[in-house]
Amino acid sequence: MLDTNWAVAWMRASAAIIAEQRMALSELDRLIGDGDHGENLDRGFQAVVAKLDVVYNTPAEVLKMVAMTLMSVVGGAAGPLYGTAFLRAASATSTAANWDAETVAVALTAARDGIVARGKAELRDKTMIDAWTPAVEAADEAVQNGLGEMEVLFAAAAAAQQGAKDTEPLVARKGRASYLGERSAGHRDPGAQSTALLLGAAAQTARE
Ligand code: ADP
Ligand code: MG
Ligand code: MG
Repeated sequence: MLDTNWAVAWMRASAAIIAEQRMALSELDRLIGDGDHGENLDRGFQAVVAKLDVVYNTPAEVLKMVAMTLMSVVGGAAGPLYGTAFLRAASATSTAANWDAETVAVALTAARDGIVARGKAELRDKTMIDAWTPAVEAADEAVQNGLGEMEVLFAAAAAAQQGAKDTEPLVARKGRASYLGERSAGHRDPGAQSTALLLGAAAQTARE
């Protein structure tokens, strides 16, 4: 059941996978950016974990706290972008105590749209959008096919993972990596990879 406990567990799992992958994410960012993406997100999610022990009444309340924390702690490009994503997802799901399949798709769409509104990236600009948009499309398709909320999350996570992989040949047109021009090709975008990790954590936690 995708309830408040799930949202809390999702954030703990996110913090754990980001901590585990901190060096790998920063290595990706070192290749096409300034090498801080893993540290940035790890700092943010450690701060999130420190705020998970109070009582939350809905998944949206959890996500709102996450948004505020990431915006104030993470900095760089990813902080405001992920902050906006979680804030939009919270607003779009408002008082829902349990997320059904459709709510998952609504939340992912709102998150993606928030990142686009803030960062103006288009598909194939080699940013986190290249993970988010396939995730949204896979979630919508899964909902159309009548799948349940857990399957919708798994479909989204798998599509985000593939989308992150598919950033490898792309030339960056947004963010720091765009300063490299053609030399940004041949490396995976760190933000797309962290998006895949976060959505993977959402799906894994749903199964537990
Ligand atoms: P910074 O580049 O400020 O050091 P991070 O390293 O934490 O910030 O995050 C870099 C990631 O942010 C990139 O890998 C990319 O996915 C994402 N990003 C950068 N600019 C944009 C944008 N305009 N739209 C969407 N995502 C972006
Ligand atoms: Mg960076
Ligand atoms: Mg930086």
